[in-house]
Amino acid sequence: KHMRPASAEAITIAVANFKGGVTKTTTAVTLAQGLSLRGHNVLVIDTDPQGSMTTLFGVLPDVDVSDEQTILPLCFGSEISIDYAIQSTYWSGIDIVPANLALYSAEFALPSRQKEESSFEFWNVLTHGIDIARTKYDVIIIDTSPSLSYLTINSLLAADGLIMPLPPSTLDFTSSGQFWNLFNDLTTNLITNRGKTKSFDFVDVLLARVDSNDSSSSVVREWITAGYANMVLPVEIPKTSLTASASAEFGTVYDTDPSSINARTYRRAFDAYERVVELVEEQIQTAWNRQ
Ligand code: ADP
Ligand code: MG
Repeated sequence: KHMRPASAEAITIAVANFKGGVTKTTTAVTLAQGLSLRGHNVLVIDTDPQGSMTTLFGVLPDVDVSDEQTILPLCFGSEISIDYAIQSTYWSGIDIVPANLALYSAEFALPSRQKEESSFEFWNVLTHGIDIARTKYDVIIIDTSPSLSYLTINSLLAADGLIMPLPPSTLDFTSSGQFWNLFNDLTTNLITNRGKTKSFDFVDVLLARVDSNDSSSSVVREWITAGYANMVLPVEIPKTSLTASASAEFGTVYDTDPSSINARTYRRAFDAYERVVELVEEQIQTAWNRQ
């Protein structure tokens, strides 16, 4: 029932958090799969030079991806659009703009494009680059690297929605606060290509990899709920060894037939991701209606 109105463009979602290992990539891939299973045409863009999302979609960064097939030419070039870098994946309904290690050089290319002090154009390379994809896809999901890089800021500025996965361990909460402050500074100070101050259609904090056996996690969960209030999605992804090992074999909860798996935590992780996909889909619908 949630289908993109003919007049609406793709909703772009960045999955970000400056910290590594907080399930950004797992969230991005699972969300893409869940949304495609609901009939949406999805483009995923890997902006992490480590190429984890690329790998999870069965594309090997070192073998299958030339430097020209990433967003790198966008960072060096000027008026090109992302079409040139789009590949299909093994998952029907999901296309990818992959990444490989060469993407690191974007960190030098982007700031050197700043022609004058007041020009913020290099912040919006991705925003402009994906323009053409906005009419071809329903949803665009950007996976980001665990750093405050030019590419990550580009991703945030190109996004209509932000999802910040956050495992409830003390360290993750502390660094997410830093992410949040920087994020607010950046988005209130930078100007988008539309000449407006950046604002998001939705911002979601996703409690992820929650270990029900870890008593400290419930305390941190309360801090998170207090700190991020109604931004926190009313669902948590449980920690499950099966998700992690599936991940290592290039899979997610959607890659395995859940009925074939008996493990309770796996089943719960599957149900939780289904709920996340549902909630995000509703936010996408609202954003479409607003366009
Ligand atoms: P990031 O992209 O933020 O670095 P990843 O998505 O690569 O994070 O996840 C970090 C690790 O956590 C990976 O090994 C992944 O398989 C594992 N992981 C993700 N989700 C879960 C989960 N629900 N339970 C247990 N491990 C998980
Ligand atoms: Mg990652």
